Amino acid sequence: MATNRTFTMIKPDAVQNGYAGKILDQMTEAGFKVIALKYMQLDESTAGNFYGVHRERPFFNDLVTFMTSGPIYAAILEKENAVEDFRALIGATNPAEAAEGTIRQRFAKSIDANAVHGSDSDVNADIEGSFFFSQFERF
Ligand code: ATP
Ligand code: MG
Repeated sequence: MATNRTFTMIKPDAVQNGYAGKILDQMTEAGFKVIALKYMQLDESTAGNFYGVHRERPFFNDLVTFMTSGPIYAAILEKENAVEDFRALIGATNPAEAAEGTIRQRFAKSIDANAVHGSDSDVNADIEGSFFFSQFERF
């Protein structure tokens, strides 16, 4: 069942480059409502667990190093058809392949530092949101 919620992170490159405000603005302009939001820095074990499905991939260590390199924004967003529509809004994993006007096309430089995360399924959106936020942090 679709939950109409997705989970996102504004990644360290985008925060470092000063794009967090513009990216949040593009998300809300596209109709996503912020249900939960925090500014934080991931530690190695949290980032490793979050991207645990990629543990055997060659880029895993670089991914964890990058995701722990500076603060991020974590958020739960709500909109009809949230997961699919949000993946369309952020664009392809590799910003060089991301469609014109998408968040990754506008704000990301490389596949390693690609500005934002978006959940890839309703099940994962729920798992990821609960990984970061308690029921008292959602509005
Ligand atoms: P995310 O989960 O961060 O939203 P995604 O779902 O578009 O990204 P995944 O396949 O889940 O892509 O990969 C997670 C992250 O691992 C990507 O955002 C990217 O930074 C990195 N990554 C994926 N594939 C590669 C690759 N071939 N080379 C380098 N890094 C990669
Ligand atoms: Mg992914």
